[in-house]
Amino acid sequence: MTDFGLACPIPLSDYPTVTLAHGGGGRLMNHLIERMFMAAFRNPHLDRRHDGAVFETGGGRLAITTDSYVVRPLFFPGGDIGSLAVHGTVNDLAMCGARPLHLTVALILEEGLPMDTLWRVTQSLAEAARACEVSIVAGDTKVVDRGKGDGLYLNTSGIGILEHALDIRPASVRPGDVVLVSGDLGRHGMAVMAVRAGLEFESEIESDSAPLSRVVQALLRRNLEIHCLRDLTRGGLASALNEIAATARVGVTLDEAEVPVREDVRGACEVLGLDPLYVANEGRFVVFLPEREAEVALEILRAHEVCREARRVGFVHEDPQPPVTLLTTMGVHRVVDMLSGEQLPRIC
Ligand code: MG
Repeated sequence: MTDFGLACPIPLSDYPTVTLAHGGGGRLMNHLIERMFMAAFRNPHLDRRHDGAVFETGGGRLAITTDSYVVRPLFFPGGDIGSLAVHGTVNDLAMCGARPLHLTVALILEEGLPMDTLWRVTQSLAEAARACEVSIVAGDTKVVDRGKGDGLYLNTSGIGILEHALDIRPASVRPGDVVLVSGDLGRHGMAVMAVRAGLEFESEIESDSAPLSRVVQALLRRNLEIHCLRDLTRGGLASALNEIAATARVGVTLDEAEVPVREDVRGACEVLGLDPLYVANEGRFVVFLPEREAEVALEILRAHEVCREARRVGFVHEDPQPPVTLLTTMGVHRVVDMLSGEQLPRIC
């Protein structure tokens, strides 16, 4: 029998109700996942703290992952909720080192949603799936009452196949690895926020939303010793590195001068009081691999349009305290903490 008498692991005195920050990708979301969901669902797959689970079948290894999308507005410069849902799930499979095969799509629609809006999102889902060479093989549709659903929410799950023997996950990261970032940071979060805040900048900031499976496959084909891959979604580069460093029990030092951020994105971040290191991307990832392979990996990355500005931004060392530091352009070391509180709600 289920024991409903267990105490809720999130101190009720601190947060008697869910806040937007519980979905923001920072410390509160981390607490919720670690203390409530991990505690309740505990198993070796979840213990790996990866973008998806990799499991053995009779004939090989498969990866599985799932994601929900509640972005507001549904359409934004550089993308929409449909393409975002496909890219997000395809990218999580790619970060497991898998070649994406099939997706499922569940739609939660609000009564009154214009049929034309639904059609545009459906076309976007289909087009993105075609571009990613995955098929949408199962789905579900639910409709909720007017006023109770904010238009449209999506959930996508995906399955992919691993065609190599590497163990790509946070715990495989070791001292001596370098950290490569695949391109400029912060565009997705700022593109959505600029629309929402009604901000006008000189040039329109477009989301970086893009599939990363092809470039990851190219890295894998070269037999590089990849230790970990992670897409830089909610919480941005800073949160991803903190999570990986904590799991691998290592330290990461970033070189601020090498972290690519476009001037217009930097400006928008300043207006909104945000740090680009924490802003979400939907087409960017980090690669951890031994230093001797950095140049070959960068060459492969840069040969793909989506990673043309790939760079080496940091290295891994033995000292796990603090997990992530930034060598600033002023030449001082600053701790890059896990984000506490909320930075950008409803951006994916
Ligand atoms: Mg991810």
